[in-house]
Amino acid sequence: MNKKGYFGEFGGSFISEVLKPALDEIASTYAKAKKDKKFWAEFHHLASTYSCRPTPLYFCENLSKKLGGAKIYLKREDLNQTGAHKFNNVLGQALLARRMKKKRLIAETGAGQHGVATATIAARFGFECVIYMGAVDVARQRPNVFWMQRLGAKVIPVTAGTARLKDAVAEAMRDWAGNIDSTHYLLGSALGPDPFPTIVRDFQSIIGKEVKVQMKKEEARLPDYLIACVGGGSNAIGLFHPFIRDKKVQLIGVEAGGKSDSLGSHAIRIASKPQARKGVFEGFLGQFLQDSVGNLAPTHSVCAGLDHPGVGPEHSFLASSGRATYTFARDTEVLAAAKMLMENEGIIPALESSHAVAEAIRLAPKLPRSKIIVVNLSGRGDKDIFIYAKALGDAAWKEFLQQEIQTL
Ligand SMILES: *Cc1c(COP(=O)(O)O)cnc(C)c1O
Repeated sequence: MNKKGYFGEFGGSFISEVLKPALDEIASTYAKAKKDKKFWAEFHHLASTYSCRPTPLYFCENLSKKLGGAKIYLKREDLNQTGAHKFNNVLGQALLARRMKKKRLIAETGAGQHGVATATIAARFGFECVIYMGAVDVARQRPNVFWMQRLGAKVIPVTAGTARLKDAVAEAMRDWAGNIDSTHYLLGSALGPDPFPTIVRDFQSIIGKEVKVQMKKEEARLPDYLIACVGGGSNAIGLFHPFIRDKKVQLIGVEAGGKSDSLGSHAIRIASKPQARKGVFEGFLGQFLQDSVGNLAPTHSVCAGLDHPGVGPEHSFLASSGRATYTFARDTEVLAAAKMLMENEGIIPALESSHAVAEAIRLAPKLPRSKIIVVNLSGRGDKDIFIYAKALGDAAWKEFLQQEIQTL
């Protein structure tokens, strides 16, 4: 990082003056906490007792044999509390919020996964919790809304604008601006205004740090390739960051290829020029999918977690410096990859994570058996049962849903 809060030319803080004191407070609180052994002791204690860190690094013997090339390992972030890496971030930020003596956590969520993680940590720490969600998303993510409410959070459907994630972001920002003394805005990925991209990355870096130790134990060396899916970019940067100085380790981010290259049919931000251009949205300067007049463009992905027009600034920097490379996987490849992992290893991956699995399946057969790939399995697939069942054309599932409705 050169200029404060920037990764190369990307990042910074573009927010209303009202929010500046809140961001300064987060930055100074984190700067102190970062050097405080007690802070990290509590982080690691809860990570290991309330979640299940260190998560295993698992060798996919069957899948590797079947593909006939490099060895594939999975970092099992799917085994975290609430079923994804998101827990690492909400835990760290909840500890910061408590240090700042905040009483309320607010967050915005699209798919609802970050909302569930935030509601969980709010219940654990006794924070009041408000989740902003586009009305369209509230309607289509009912299971997550149900759990957020059971966990004690208030879910506010946002009907303004397009009633989607970006409108929920705007509403959450408005809430925060009016309540900065009592409220911490718990941002869910490694993006947004400085210092969020750095803080979220640091909490998620536990992933890569563990992989380093586990790989040394397992193979007595570093891996050759690290692969992770990239939505906002938090699970990928968490895996990559501890390896950035290990120049021989290749870093590959996988974006949502959706259905095709046409604007509106994918969420490829870094790997697609010129649809993704530099711009300032959501409080930072980054690469965003934009239409011809510079508005945020619609996106599509089979999974909600990668379906976003923007990406964290550190990924744009890693791409521009050539340290990491970015590619994409189409929806159809993603479903095939998920099926292959289920059938060969007995592991049900989240659709997001299946993007990374798809790239490993493409890459492994091209490499010799001596090479090692680590895939970040960012989350588990239970949440995706509706999409999987529909995509795999399961007729009995449809019957089951119809029966359920009749018994209501
Ligand atoms: C939210 C989510 C993602 C995408 O978020 P990043 O910040 O890019 O990591 C990926 N995988 C799973 C399972 C998720 O829930």
